[in-house]
Amino acid sequence: MSMRELVVLGTASQAPTRQRNHNGYVLRWDDEVILFDPGEGSQRQLLHTTVTATDLTRICVTHFHGDHCLGLPGTIQRLSLDRVPHPVAVHFPAGGAEYFARLRHATSFYETAELAVTPIETDGQRIALRCGTLEARRLRHPIETYGYRLVEPDGCRMLPEKLAAYGIAGPAVGELIRVGHLDLDGRRVTRDEVSVPRPGQRFAFVMDTGLCDGVYALAEHADLLVIESTFLESEAALAAEVGHLTAAQAARVATESGVRTLVLTHFSQRYPDPGRFFDEARAHFDGDLVIAEDLTTVQVPPRRVASAG
Ligand SMILES: [Zn+2]
Repeated sequence: MSMRELVVLGTASQAPTRQRNHNGYVLRWDDEVILFDPGEGSQRQLLHTTVTATDLTRICVTHFHGDHCLGLPGTIQRLSLDRVPHPVAVHFPAGGAEYFARLRHATSFYETAELAVTPIETDGQRIALRCGTLEARRLRHPIETYGYRLVEPDGCRMLPEKLAAYGIAGPAVGELIRVGHLDLDGRRVTRDEVSVPRPGQRFAFVMDTGLCDGVYALAEHADLLVIESTFLESEAALAAEVGHLTAAQAARVATESGVRTLVLTHFSQRYPDPGRFFDEARAHFDGDLVIAEDLTTVQVPPRRVASAG
């Protein structure tokens, strides 16, 4: 089975604390290993996980506030230091290209790694990956910000015993999948007769934002949603003013969007007790709820069971 999991590098917003590094996340998803929003210290946090710089295939930055990108210089230089042999794709809001250029070349280093840079220019921009589609949606924050989601298309799982019953094997299986049917001795066998639907999986990453359409577009039916909850409801007015979410808002988004596993993170340093985020979110969401801690791993839940048919 391919591996699909989230590795949490850090969970603090704005300023790190003794318990929380600046935020940063790695998503392992089949052949993709995507680093999201590397804050300060991300290179060293990686050392505490099983992910290496060489594993990284892609870097996605939501916006250019320091807690989401000050880890870029170290991480990018590390790619060259380790002579990473494959190109690493990089995405960030196009309006922040100047910040990216500065961070990329913040200091002198011997550059060997290849970065394949594709800035996000428009709301809804899609990037085709082997494992699905990466989509960016505009969020609401004082500077240009995009969240991301990874959508695997629905597919089907062939049933070996049914294939065997019809005597279908080898290249004929590929043809049946591709064409949708196969004519055997005057009888047509359809793909649906010998397979069951395999619902695609979705991962969504929603950072610094007030509530807006983009939040819901990203969260829709996510198997795993990573979403900022900088504040608690007691600071709801402040959250709205500065373009952030509360734990209750994030949890309600998850419920309304049919999210399965909800990961809250990007906590303000004003709240030393993470239990308060859990309690507030729990009142609005009854699925799997994780209050992210540094250096923990969250599994993408098993596929949804396909509806009968
Ligand atoms: Zn921000």
